Amino acid sequence: MAGDPVKILLIEHPRDFKPERCNDIANTPLSSCLVSGYAAGMLQSRGHEVEIVEGYLEKLQYSDILAIAVSFRPDIVGVHMVYQWGRDIKLSGFLLSMKDSGLCRHITAYGFYPTVAFRSVLNNFSALDSIVLGEPENPFAELAETVSSGKSVAGIAGVAVRSGDGEVLYNRPDVPQNPDTLPFPVRTEALYRLNEVNLLGSRGCYGSCTFCYINKYYGGAQRWRGRGPENITGEINEIIAETGKREFYFTDPNFFGPGRHGQERALRLASLLKPLKIKFGIEGRVNDIHDKTIEALVDAGLRNILIGLESGRNESLRRMNKMTTVEQNEQALRTLRKHGIEPNVGFIMFEPDSSLEDVRTNFEFLKRNNLLNNLPVTANVLYHHQIILEGTQAYSELAGGGRLNLLNDTGYEGSAYFKAGSVSCLSGIMRRITNHLFQKMDGVWSGRVIAPPDSGRLYEDVNNLLVRTFDDALCGLEAEGTFSAVQEDEIVERTNRQISEMLAVRIKKQE
Ligand code: SF4
Repeated sequence: MAGDPVKILLIEHPRDFKPERCNDIANTPLSSCLVSGYAAGMLQSRGHEVEIVEGYLEKLQYSDILAIAVSFRPDIVGVHMVYQWGRDIKLSGFLLSMKDSGLCRHITAYGFYPTVAFRSVLNNFSALDSIVLGEPENPFAELAETVSSGKSVAGIAGVAVRSGDGEVLYNRPDVPQNPDTLPFPVRTEALYRLNEVNLLGSRGCYGSCTFCYINKYYGGAQRWRGRGPENITGEINEIIAETGKREFYFTDPNFFGPGRHGQERALRLASLLKPLKIKFGIEGRVNDIHDKTIEALVDAGLRNILIGLESGRNESLRRMNKMTTVEQNEQALRTLRKHGIEPNVGFIMFEPDSSLEDVRTNFEFLKRNNLLNNLPVTANVLYHHQIILEGTQAYSELAGGGRLNLLNDTGYEGSAYFKAGSVSCLSGIMRRITNHLFQKMDGVWSGRVIAPPDSGRLYEDVNNLLVRTFDDALCGLEAEGTFSAVQEDEIVERTNRQISEMLAVRIKKQE
């Protein structure tokens, strides 16, 4: 190591709850939960003293975090910056106060959001000295050694800084990290308090869906990198020995590697996992759901899976560059159900170019495949529109075509002007209704409130109301082409009133 060891404080900052965005997914991928842990693992392995502050999971205030920083006296502060559907004024103010107090020598940010939007983040957060781009382990380690030596961090591969003339200097490493060479991530007590222990078995994805920014973060040419099965089970064995926990979740955006090798690796991993007697969940693409592999994984403890169906219409799947088909979607559902797994599904009911015919086909697909029988699933699949974030192909194409409406001054997120007015109308109706439902159900679905004893029947009724409302509105639009604002309001207000009445006084507060 070039310089002396330094003290590094890694901050998971507090996140605000926004009722109108309470169920929008993808402001940061699930795998983000281990970004700080992996950085800490690498930094500790280089001899530095590292502390992680779980501002989000521990529900800390910035004053609490400041007190921790004053006590720890870090040389470097790293912020795992997560986009929160808008500019984070509180975080910006906190970092400025850290800077002005002279508490540390260098403040950097890392994570998916600052990697993609590093220019605007450096512009908007004047307290930041740098941003670590992409996988943080190696560039952060070099940054720590450089700060320790008192040199400039400009020019470190994977680190962006401001230049003197108002420009931003950066370069990304060409060679992606081999995940088997990295130290295991550090996990805090707060992470271990979650229901499952999160793991990362692979990085990147071999897909290139137009709405996805996974590969923008990982960069490099090699788009999916799996850890060796022995490396993964080595980490699991350590966790079991240390905590006794046996419930795990692979946060990989795509658990399976491509093709035959991907299946063989999954089978090898299943054979090593089976004797460990754990339960686990994964996320994957439908074209990787094969009978023999799923059978082996279920035998080894697989209990839940999220698959990205995205659409029930091949034209839509092509537009999203999903590289899958409706037949593969249906086959994946059959295979998983055959092995006793009812999957969670990713589904984009409304994409910017959807026609009403696409929406009808999606609706029939969901009905035909029994995906409209469970209230939380129904509420999601009947309202999701495509979220458009910087760094994605969809963002660039819509911006190029003059169809991107930036939603706030970060420039990071936009909404598309729908091609079809009728689709825009139905999407707006469903969003207002499901937002009302999500707020009503927040207590139960977050586990803070006990559902009433007869909740099964009650939620079935609400589920049927949602499906009926969607169906009626779709039929109306097919017949009339559009609704007036008064008609839209009438549908939303009537349905929300019915939902409120059905759920009123039926949910008692947890003792
Ligand atoms: S399959 Fe999933 S992770 Fe891969 S590019 Fe598509 S959305 Fe992203």
